[in-house]
Amino acid sequence: MAVDTEGEVRCGNVREKTFQEILDDSEAFQRVLDRNQLQGKCGRCRYKFTCGGCGAMACFESGDLMGEDPTCSFEPEEDGRDLPADAPMTAVISKQP
Ligand code: SF4
Repeated sequence: MAVDTEGEVRCGNVREKTFQEILDDSEAFQRVLDRNQLQGKCGRCRYKFTCGGCGAMACFESGDLMGEDPTCSFEPEEDGRDLPADAPMTAVISKQP
């Protein structure tokens, strides 16, 4: 997202609408905020609602803003049940190679 010197945001103008209205009215932003749209390992990762990966890196790598984050070294299991939902973040870090 970018705001230019005229106040223009890709999905609206902050001089015409509140930022919240721009977010709420934008199909693109709503898609980004819907973590159920995440693809690849981010889509099956139990941390997708707290992490979700970096959309910029996903877009750079695959062209899909909702693609998996190629910079993450965490590898969720194929079935999405890699760790208990209440696992502390240290458990995730200790599983890193
Ligand atoms: S922890 Fe890694 S795989 Fe899981 S959502 Fe975040 S970036 Fe994606």
